[in-house]
Amino acid sequence: MGELIDLRSDTVTRPTSGMRRAMAEAEVGDDVYREDPTIRALEERVAGMFGHEAGLFVPSGTMGNQIGLRLVCEPGQEVLCDSEAHIVTYEMGAAAVLFGISTRTVVSSGRGRWGGQETGRLDAAQLIDQVRPHGNWHLTATAAVAVENTHNRGGGLVQPLDQLQALWEWSRQAGVDVHLDGARIWNASVATGVDLATYGRLADTASVCLSKGLGAPVGSVVVASAERIAAARLWRKRLGGGMRQAGVLAAAGLYALDHHLDRLAEDHEHAQLLAKRLGLDPASVETNLVRLDDVPAPVVAEAAKAQGVLVSQTSAHRLRLVTNLGVDRTATERAADVLAELLGR
Ligand SMILES: *Cc1c(COP(=O)(O)O)cnc(C)c1O
Repeated sequence: MGELIDLRSDTVTRPTSGMRRAMAEAEVGDDVYREDPTIRALEERVAGMFGHEAGLFVPSGTMGNQIGLRLVCEPGQEVLCDSEAHIVTYEMGAAAVLFGISTRTVVSSGRGRWGGQETGRLDAAQLIDQVRPHGNWHLTATAAVAVENTHNRGGGLVQPLDQLQALWEWSRQAGVDVHLDGARIWNASVATGVDLATYGRLADTASVCLSKGLGAPVGSVVVASAERIAAARLWRKRLGGGMRQAGVLAAAGLYALDHHLDRLAEDHEHAQLLAKRLGLDPASVETNLVRLDDVPAPVVAEAAKAQGVLVSQTSAHRLRLVTNLGVDRTATERAADVLAELLGR
């Protein structure tokens, strides 16, 4: 049967030998004392890439998002986001539990391949329409809106630049902040050719992951203004995310930026290959996630596993395949064959 072909997520990648070498050779120090040169270099580099003043290395995307939300939202205020957003679906209610931040959701009506429902596609006007004003003693004030790009449960869809720009321009005069959950913003940039800094400048705070498609074992970076990152550093410490000689991890992130960013295009090609072979509209697959709807998910996942292909079930009727650097073209073709056979396509 050979090696398992793991398409469950792009988090499953293991550090390559080159990355492990970079980790072994990293210069390190105590980062709580701000003495780890490799972490400082990573933070500066990522902040620069997104057009922000400063960055903060954190252990996970969830911590990055939660710190980002806390920077733009006080306890008792709300953040407005899409109903399928990672921050409300997969972060264990953290904003409420940790910070007393209320979350309100809208079912995004932006056009997508699944009609108006569950696309996750941003429609700026729709979101803006739901924002509640500050200074009204009846209403929970909307302090921030959060946008996810690419959208995970939306099947890796890319948020339209014109909508992001419209939201940003409105937010400046409305005094509402914008948080970007950019776990896979790299994929959006590679897919569209829109510069990372262009995306970055359309958000007050952003969290970007090194451990998804980029293939680092651990880590995300929060970017924002220098003042906000100083506050973020305190929140990270409170949350237990102050790390010591973690430059070995930051070195993996730097290596990933050097070697694994451009190659995301390969993952996108592999996703196209899967889409075509499985009879999906190739235009409906925008990055490295392939969403298979209306399938008996547990049965197919189990049968695929028996043939060495791992996929994830995102509902009883939906599977998700995520191409990643651990799955080359040959393996993708094999996975496509196995799944096409099982689905009778
Ligand atoms: C993976 C992911 C995160 C962060 O997840 P962690 O497992 O905490 O690193 C955040 N947002 C989105 C959209 C994600 O896909």
